[in-house]
Amino acid sequence: MVDQREDQEIQREKGEATRRRKWEMRQERKRLQAQKQAEEEKRKRRQDEKFMREALRQARKAAALGDVPIGCVIVCRDKIIARGYNRRNADKTVLSHAEIISIKKACRVIGDWRLEECTMYVTLEPCPMCAGAIVQARIPRVVIGSKNPKAGCAGSVLDLFHEKGFNHQVELETGVLEQDCTELLQEFFRELRQKRT
Ligand SMILES: [Zn+2]
Repeated sequence: MVDQREDQEIQREKGEATRRRKWEMRQERKRLQAQKQAEEEKRKRRQDEKFMREALRQARKAAALGDVPIGCVIVCRDKIIARGYNRRNADKTVLSHAEIISIKKACRVIGDWRLEECTMYVTLEPCPMCAGAIVQARIPRVVIGSKNPKAGCAGSVLDLFHEKGFNHQVELETGVLEQDCTELLQEFFRELRQKRT
């Protein structure tokens, strides 16, 4: 009788130890998974910042011409395939927005009007024309520096990227090098005001 009780006790303890071990293994797996995910996100962010820096370089070219500094690059399989900057004033046409110029170049490189494997990096949230072109070109992902509360169509005034009525939705990333993108614009308008007075 005593032996049987001892036996049961041993079995119970064994069961408990196994359950604890399994629980610990599950926790460890979860921890490693979360760590891997965090590292992947960090890598993605670094990559996004690298390409946004090139978009900023493009934006400075616009400022040098006296155009509002907005720059854009289009990336396909981790490679920049098109660059553009705002030339509205230089070309005397609204069709010379950074995004439209970049889309045209990217289409020439890819040899198609569809840019389905591309990511666009742009220093300022796109206007309705450019947001429309992005949807039309089926660009799957757009990364934005600054928001544009007065004309932005990626969520500020309108959200053309997540319009359920359209057959294409755009994944959006915002706030990448936001401060640099905003300061560049502020500096441009500050200098413009100074020149006028
Ligand atoms: Zn535009």
